[in-house]
Amino acid sequence: MTTNSQLVPLDAKNRVGGSLRSLFGMNTAELSEWMAAAGEPKWRGSQLAEALYRQRIVEVEGITTLSKALRQRLDREGWQVGRPRIVQVFTSVDGTERYLVHGQGLDGLTVETVWMPEGDGGEAGDGSEGPAGAAEASKVWDRATICVSSQVGCAVNCQFCLTAKLGLQRNLSVGEIAGQVVAVLDRQSVEVGKERVNLVFMGMGEPFLNYENFMGAVRLLVEEVGLSPQRMTVSTSGIVPGIERFAEEPPEIRPKLAISLNAPNDEVRSEVMPINRKWPIEAVVDAVRGVRLRSRERITFEYVLLGGVTDRPEHAAEVARLVRRTGLPAKVNLIAWNPGPGIAYTMPESGAVEGFRRALAAEGVPVYLRRPRGRDIYAACGQLKRTVEE
Ligand code: SAH
Ligand code: SF4
Repeated sequence: MTTNSQLVPLDAKNRVGGSLRSLFGMNTAELSEWMAAAGEPKWRGSQLAEALYRQRIVEVEGITTLSKALRQRLDREGWQVGRPRIVQVFTSVDGTERYLVHGQGLDGLTVETVWMPEGDGGEAGDGSEGPAGAAEASKVWDRATICVSSQVGCAVNCQFCLTAKLGLQRNLSVGEIAGQVVAVLDRQSVEVGKERVNLVFMGMGEPFLNYENFMGAVRLLVEEVGLSPQRMTVSTSGIVPGIERFAEEPPEIRPKLAISLNAPNDEVRSEVMPINRKWPIEAVVDAVRGVRLRSRERITFEYVLLGGVTDRPEHAAEVARLVRRTGLPAKVNLIAWNPGPGIAYTMPESGAVEGFRRALAAEGVPVYLRRPRGRDIYAACGQLKRTVEE
């Protein structure tokens, strides 16, 4: 009976509405259970995981560890690997690449992913913020950062962010989030474990408003693909219930945490990030206190400098006081605002960024400047907005 029954998805929760039958996104345990339920030996699941996540095979036909008969059966029943595909590439003068990636849904939505050779991993301060110099040569990077999206668009509505203009179109599935990474690793011929690649979940969307799928993707990337969670950073606008859940994750799979602070106090923050009215700074900081940090781990506060709005000297003093008051081992990453059409802010004036950095440093706050990457191709922070494949 079972052997003749169709191979149905075990776990529908990770799948996007009307999706094709994609294998990519299931872990070894899920693949094994699913194979067993279809009357195949359980260890077929391990072979599939090996093919999808380590060998990076993209066609069922190419998974030659499976018998020909099984491959034909999968094909007959409409199964495909279904790894998200890079469909368009924009290349910056600084070596950054921005990708439009086709997802797994039948809705045809694309998602954006960014590759930054010599990127600072969202955690500059490790000496990596020197000049890029990666423009001409082919594989000249010795470390790189992939910026990953967790949703198409975003519902949070930060006033300075271009992604917000899209609204939320939909959540990405586990396979769509992890698939961005594996597609880029493949394109760049990255040898996992040998080459130093950081992940930042700082692309489109708010990861903590797609919590299950975001953490499912992290688990897949750690357990199946072999990436280290200590080389991953997730950034949140301050979704308190999400931070509380995150605090419960085991350290073996928990990425590092960055909080988009972006303002010196609640008044300004509520103006630039209306979500602050729901979860003000103190509530966010309280939730962050619940995260058990690994040794030498620090919380990152990201701070976007908006000309005249958040970049004044008195703001720097306030930020320093605020960060000290949290009592958390923390550092501040300053990001000069990246402009976008239809957004009524201005970039900080020349000198303001460096002045702000110096003021924080003088107060004893560890502070780093995030270099804008790929501004010319709309790949920099807050610029992702499907510009556009149609
Ligand atoms: N939604 C998450 C992660 C994605 S945004 C979050 O907001 O934290 C990643 C970072 O880019 C955030 O710190 C955000 O404040 C910042 N950002 C958004 N728009 C920006 C812009 N136009 N210029 C510079 N940074 C921006
Ligand atoms: Fe969403 Fe982050 Fe942009 Fe805010 S900054 S709108 S949370 S993507």
